[in-house]
Amino acid sequence: MTALEDARERGRELAAALAADGVAGVVIVWADNNGIPRSRTVPVSALPQVAVAGVGVTHLFAVFDTNDGIAFGSPGMENASGDVRLVPQLDRVTRLAGQPAFAWVPGRQVTADGGPWAFDQRSVLERTVARLDAAGYSALVGYEMEFGVFEQPQDRDDDALLPAHPGPAYSPHALLPIDDFVASVMRDAEANGLRLGQVHAEYGPAQVELSLAATDPLTAADHQLLARQTVLAAAEAHGLRVSFAPLPTLAGAGNGWHVHTSLWRGGENLLAGTAEGPRGTAGAAYIAGLLRDLPALAAVTAPSLGSLARIRPGFFAGAFGFWGVENREAPLRYVPGSALLGEDHANVELKVSDASANPYLALAALLTAGVAGVEENLAPPAPLSADPGTWKKKERAAAGIEKLPSTQAEQEEALSNNPRIAGVLGEDLLGAFLAVRRADAGWAEEKETEDVLAAWRWRY
Ligand code: GLU
Ligand code: MG
Repeated sequence: MTALEDARERGRELAAALAADGVAGVVIVWADNNGIPRSRTVPVSALPQVAVAGVGVTHLFAVFDTNDGIAFGSPGMENASGDVRLVPQLDRVTRLAGQPAFAWVPGRQVTADGGPWAFDQRSVLERTVARLDAAGYSALVGYEMEFGVFEQPQDRDDDALLPAHPGPAYSPHALLPIDDFVASVMRDAEANGLRLGQVHAEYGPAQVELSLAATDPLTAADHQLLARQTVLAAAEAHGLRVSFAPLPTLAGAGNGWHVHTSLWRGGENLLAGTAEGPRGTAGAAYIAGLLRDLPALAAVTAPSLGSLARIRPGFFAGAFGFWGVENREAPLRYVPGSALLGEDHANVELKVSDASANPYLALAALLTAGVAGVEENLAPPAPLSADPGTWKKKERAAAGIEKLPSTQAEQEEALSNNPRIAGVLGEDLLGAFLAVRRADAGWAEEKETEDVLAAWRWRY
């Protein structure tokens, strides 16, 4: 059987099973360059055909900005003529527990004749994982997802923000008013194949966090999208509204989507270590690689104006370039293993990460930066347990600690001047990615930050 015949056959089997389960439509999802999930829904009966040929979508999604404006002009994105095929990844088809008439599947965008398309974000991560694999590495990735839960107003256009829980932070009492919602999230996540770590009330009123167990990078990115769909469906069912935006309001808590990674070689977790840091030089080099590329990396992992508003000193969001052991103010927080947790628990958490990042690009950039550090045997500076945000400028300069880029222009400069991270995206996709960032910044130029945050509150 050819690969295409195989896909058609698999599509037939899946269509029959889904139809027997009462599923009407299959939602094919990808994430755009703003981290916004986009989709096409096909009837289950179309799955055999769609499994082979995909569905047609405009190439211009590569330059959709956060407001659904189209940032024409970058190479390949000059005008409205063009089409790509969105092909479902059949091994990931998931019937949605919270939307039982629908199944969910991530898609890849390919050219009209089925070849690779330079702007497809999922392929970027696939290539990165294949490169790691060829060099003898694998990675484990776990997401923490913070979000705000609000009452659904009577009138959907009413943007009054009523936190659905009042706090206190981390209190079991905080979740009582949204008990049924939390229970649905937990049940539906499990049924959808997501492995939850934990769920709790986070720092501010309205804020909740859920964490996903570590898994391979592609699954982690797919599951981050599936988790959003799962949470939003549960919110809808319980008359609630969820904001995944990096900063729903200036006064409220920021929603970090911290990424925990560990790098493995020959069955060994290279990050394993102690409170002094990774034991071996390779694990330390991984952290050094992340630190070296952090300004450019953050331009991919926390790329929006909302991200920049969220990354404030003193908010555990990682505003300065340094690393620490269990230092929650550090953008790179090393989490050692222990006798209790096991050596292999060790990982490093990237805090400059949120829902406005495309998860495939973010993980591809992150792993590339870390592995480059290993391959070049970099050595990191000493970890910090303090918060350099509380130091005088002079003290930070003496310690070689810089603020991460805090404007769109600074982020663009950091990314454009870093061939390693820019190269992960490749010239075409980088052009589209930056065009989108500039379009957002141009739109926001005359606006108050609070208004920008309000406009994007429900976009992710
Ligand atoms: N909400 C914080 C952020 O914006 C993170 C708090 C925490 O350490 O969990 O990233
Ligand atoms: Mg948290």
